[in-house]
Amino acid sequence: MFDKIQIIKKYAKENNVPIMQNDGIDFLISYIKKNNIKNILEIGTAIGYSAIMMALTSKDIKVTTIERDELRYKEAIKNIKELNLEDRITVINKDAFDVELNDNFELIFIDAAKAQSIKFFEKFENNLTKNGAIITDNLNFHGLVKTPEEEILSRNVRGIVRKTKAYIEFLKNNEKYNTEFYDIGDGISLSIKK
Ligand code: SAH
Ligand code: MG
Repeated sequence: MFDKIQIIKKYAKENNVPIMQNDGIDFLISYIKKNNIKNILEIGTAIGYSAIMMALTSKDIKVTTIERDELRYKEAIKNIKELNLEDRITVINKDAFDVELNDNFELIFIDAAKAQSIKFFEKFENNLTKNGAIITDNLNFHGLVKTPEEEILSRNVRGIVRKTKAYIEFLKNNEKYNTEFYDIGDGISLSIKK
């Protein structure tokens, strides 16, 4: 099992797939264990790495995960089969904005297009159980959220940084949730529904 995980990580590195860093994964796993989480929704599967790590936390965990890119979706399906997790991880190959889910999840993990986090949050909070949590990755956006804007040369990157800052403000001002921010990995937030 550990060999298979190492192969997935190596593939991610060689193909520039932005998978979660180790300390971010540790954070997710410890939240799942501590709160006895069983049903998880993930936005942004990539090649299945974080979904697999979450599912491996305990045998009765189910993960539903959404990925719009077809190549990554196929790689995720392959990896999930390698680990015999196809009964517990469902991958949906669609744009998350086109997905309608009726199930409720105790944990929603947002790790997709960084400029869209507010929209993902608002769409999928309807699928959160009472006292459920939404965890979001990449709130530092490779350290750029703390960089003075004039030092960021790419207009596109500046746009993403602005939207990330707006998301942080959105979370801070959202009275329906208690949000904590952690300087772990590329910056993580944990928003617990009141
Ligand atoms: N959670 C993964 C990494 C996800 S990378 C891990 O840690 O292993 C982010 C992924 O989100 C990319 O593969 C990208 O294609 C996908 N994505 C971005 N916007 C999306 C959207 N609107 N709907 C579905 N997938 C999206
Ligand atoms: Mg990420």
